[in-house]
Amino acid sequence: MFIDLHCDTAAGAVFAAHKEGGTAVDYLYNKPDAHLDVRRLRQAGGRAQFFACFTPPLEHISSAGFTTDRAFTDTVLGAVKDTAAAHPDDLRIVGTFAEYRQAVEDGVTSAFLTLEEGRPIDGKMENLDDYYDQGVRLITLTWNFKNCFGSPNSKDPVIMQEGLTDFGKEAVVYMQEKGMIVDVSHLSDGGFYDVAALCKKPFIASHSDARTLCRHTRNLTDEMLKILADHGGITGLNFCPEFIDEKGVCTYDGVIRHAHYIANTAGVDVLALGSDFDGIGGDLEIDDVMKMPILLEKLHKSGFTYDEVEKIAWKNAERILQDTLR
Ligand SMILES: [Zn+2]
Repeated sequence: MFIDLHCDTAAGAVFAAHKEGGTAVDYLYNKPDAHLDVRRLRQAGGRAQFFACFTPPLEHISSAGFTTDRAFTDTVLGAVKDTAAAHPDDLRIVGTFAEYRQAVEDGVTSAFLTLEEGRPIDGKMENLDDYYDQGVRLITLTWNFKNCFGSPNSKDPVIMQEGLTDFGKEAVVYMQEKGMIVDVSHLSDGGFYDVAALCKKPFIASHSDARTLCRHTRNLTDEMLKILADHGGITGLNFCPEFIDEKGVCTYDGVIRHAHYIANTAGVDVLALGSDFDGIGGDLEIDDVMKMPILLEKLHKSGFTYDEVEKIAWKNAERILQDTLR
């Protein structure tokens, strides 16, 4: 049983349908060469999956025939919704804690809709309302470029220290009031500290690891991990080889090393899972959602108690759902 805070499977399915024919809905349900599909998510014991609508740069989405961000996000979010509608015994779009609890009771995997890259919000508060109404419950404020919310993680120390924009600050407060989860993965360090200062409820890093173990700007420093924990937040362990190991290799042992380091630094209550399935590649041992139960078993063998493994697997994430959604 697990909750995964981040996968790029939905946008991947839309691009695959454009390139190879077929429908994104069919690919989301069954695509053996993807890291994740709903069929295997069910078999692996997925309690809830956060499906990111990752919005790449405009030139990339226009190569697939989309002229606006909105047209693209409508299609990606629509594909997840249509998949749930076509397979109601397997997947259900949920937007509140009560809906999530009901899905658990009914034995159906919950799907949370998220935006990765806040660019489609376009600096307009009413767009936050629109996307909320479309079912979006989490926004990863930036991807790897500046946008209306703020600046991205960067090797350039000037960009890395830049904070949120005025709109970004206002939007973070509004999102928390509205019941949307604020996600700092990909954000600049300056943006992280602004979010921490503004947030009254927990915020999260949906898919980031420990920077002390692997010096990548996408990872979190010890101080950031502690601040996240102080706010009751979580970080999802990301399987991306470049974030796990400076040699660019991701193994079970590498992920487990980050898990222990983060637990020792900021406490086990800050740990969750954020696979980044179908958003990562390279030298990747955990390349199939069916391997999630193996990772959980290995976490236990590495010294975490069953209770701690349960927290990492889903209980900490469930706490966030209860504390942040309506
Ligand atoms: Zn990402």
